[in-house]
Amino acid sequence: MNLDLLAIAAHPDDVELTCGGTLLKMAQFGYKTGILDLTAGEMGTRGTPKLRAEEAAKAAKLLRVSWRDTLGVPDSDVQPARQHKLHLAAIIRQLRPKTVILPYWEARHPDHYHASELGYEGCFLAGLKQLPITGEPYRPFKILYSVSYANIRPTFVVDISGQYEQRHKAILAFASQFQPPKGEKASKVHLAIDRLEDEMNQLARHYGQMIGVRYGEPFFQRELMKVEDVVKMEVRSI
Ligand SMILES: [Zn+2]
Repeated sequence: MNLDLLAIAAHPDDVELTCGGTLLKMAQFGYKTGILDLTAGEMGTRGTPKLRAEEAAKAAKLLRVSWRDTLGVPDSDVQPARQHKLHLAAIIRQLRPKTVILPYWEARHPDHYHASELGYEGCFLAGLKQLPITGEPYRPFKILYSVSYANIRPTFVVDISGQYEQRHKAILAFASQFQPPKGEKASKVHLAIDRLEDEMNQLARHYGQMIGVRYGEPFFQRELMKVEDVVKMEVRSI
């Protein structure tokens, strides 16, 4: 399957939380989108890997994602190791995404910054002819970094006001992490989901406000943005 857009992240739900609205918006534009979770999120304190996989499939459906899979890297031990890079490169060759979204390379959780490095190197290696893997050499055209949690100024923000509600549902699809098993006291986890929801809401509002819309998702790219027509540029200055 050839994808237009592939989002790669460490844990199931990372993509939903950081760029789910953008994935949905691109699917609504008619692009083929995909999510590659590097781990199955098996270190999550709640739920089982099987349940997590069901939740990930449900969230993917809500975001109209055409393809979702797990690379099989151990949770809490994401490393840019040779075997993971080759495995990822083989998937990139198979999916041939035009654009790839990665986590930003600075983060609190080691899995997140390692996911960034592993993702970038997998995309790069996929273009090397002599690599000991099958498939036609291929490199994505564009790499974007999702910077919702990063303390940097984004290069651009995607307006997700129209996708916000659906993104919210996709995040809540990962219910097992936030809801207590039957019989267990709810106080602690309720706080967790409340806090997370609130945080995501605030971040999306904050970045939306920066471009004059209700909700937005921020991205960074290493390259400069090319502009053709300065008269048609969006986002009001004064
Ligand atoms: Zn994560």
